[in-house]
Amino acid sequence: MTSVPSAESVAEFADRARVWLADNMPRIDPASPPAAPRDDERSWQRARELQKRLYAGGFAGICFPREYGGLGLDYEYQRAFDEASFSYEMPLILNTPTFTICCATLLDTGSEAQKKQHIWAALRGDEVLVQLLSEPSGGSDLAGVITRAERQGDRWVINGAKTWSTSAFAADYGLCLARTDWDVPKHDGLTMFLVPIAHPGITLRRITQVNGSAEFCEEFLDGVDVGDDAVVGEVNAGWAVASRQLYHERRAVGQGSEFASGSGSEGGHTIPVDYAGLAAKTGQADNERVKEMAGRALVHRAVAEQLIDHVYRSVRDGALPPAAGTLIRLFHAETVTLEVDTALSIAGSAGVVGQYGDGLQTGFRYLSRQSVAIGGGTTEMARNVIGERVLNFPREYTADRGVPFNQVRHGQAR
Ligand SMILES: Cc1cc2nc3c(=O)[nH]c(=O)nc-3n(C[C@H](O)[C@H](O)[C@H](O)COP(=O)(O)OP(=O)(O)OC[C@H]3O[C@@H](n4cnc5c(N)ncnc54)[C@H](O)[C@@H]3O)c2cc1C
Repeated sequence: MTSVPSAESVAEFADRARVWLADNMPRIDPASPPAAPRDDERSWQRARELQKRLYAGGFAGICFPREYGGLGLDYEYQRAFDEASFSYEMPLILNTPTFTICCATLLDTGSEAQKKQHIWAALRGDEVLVQLLSEPSGGSDLAGVITRAERQGDRWVINGAKTWSTSAFAADYGLCLARTDWDVPKHDGLTMFLVPIAHPGITLRRITQVNGSAEFCEEFLDGVDVGDDAVVGEVNAGWAVASRQLYHERRAVGQGSEFASGSGSEGGHTIPVDYAGLAAKTGQADNERVKEMAGRALVHRAVAEQLIDHVYRSVRDGALPPAAGTLIRLFHAETVTLEVDTALSIAGSAGVVGQYGDGLQTGFRYLSRQSVAIGGGTTEMARNVIGERVLNFPREYTADRGVPFNQVRHGQAR
């Protein structure tokens, strides 16, 4: 890896990045980036290959510490690189969850050996990491997971089921939350494990979504044995790790993580709606109401972008608690929902029957727009977090607080 010249200014760094990008990365039209469907194995191979180039060129992991393979630079350098790399093909699908959530969590809570091994491997393009949190019994009550890990000799043996694991089929390791003590209240008996996805005890199945994508996976863990080196943080202190993971996830989903690299849209899926184009194609270019609706959505987008920086700085400077990352997660979901609803209102029936070319694309987007209000914890849970941990409202009542988990009723008919 090329080392960063000491005391290089942001502008100098950006200049050097521009030269390197031109020589080493494929140029693209950012308005129509190459397709990189997340449910296709080839997209992941390509992303790993591009990541290897970034690493070799000394532009991987700009905000990760140098001792774990990164550059140890401030967010401003990452932003400058994002701007410089906008017209180049970047391994964007590695950002979430690998870098922004899993590596960020390992950085905060992992052992030295785990950080050196896994963060470094991910930055080199050798490892993809995913999250094994949600279970068939529910995802919002994460502390209520019932996948169990039991001590057998000097190994941990994990049994249970996980679901909605984004891109697990393409991954090497998953951060898996399991219950290691059933005699204590739910938050106190959890442990986080780094589980190899290729373990013979894991049966992985793809889930096909309403839009046809098969990116989500479900995993059945049957006697998955791992050693103590797989424990992230402390045994029975997995909630602290999971909380950190949720913190990073909310910032990542809200597009506010300093560990994401590259700002283009992933294979065209997140390209902002072209309201003017849509209005023109549907013969409504002069319609005042359409202009008003589009304007409202565009203002929301502008505010969302400003909010990212404001919250990042406020959390960094201690003016807001870490839970405030949820503000950008919530506002991002509101923004995307408004954007897609606005686009469908403008497209009208063209969004269903595919008239005027772009119309059907709008309809497809509408089909999956609910995912932004669920992924990374639901919008309802985000509002709870903001109410309780940012605004300090009283906590909502929970019947299982302080009750040993083996006495809590779950998944049973009442
Ligand atoms: C795009 C996307 C990516 C995802 N990626 C992953 C992943 O990689 N790994 C992973 O483990 N999971 C992943 N998930 C799963 C996600 O974390 C869960 O879907 C989410 O936490 C909600 O859990 P659930 O679907 O089981 O709904 P439930 O928890 O069953 O909730 C059902 C409804 O009840 C509401 N609700 C529940 N509790 C409360 C409460 N206390 N107050 C108010 N309302 C409440 C919820 O808001 C929701 O509307 C992903 C989901 C999506 C959409």
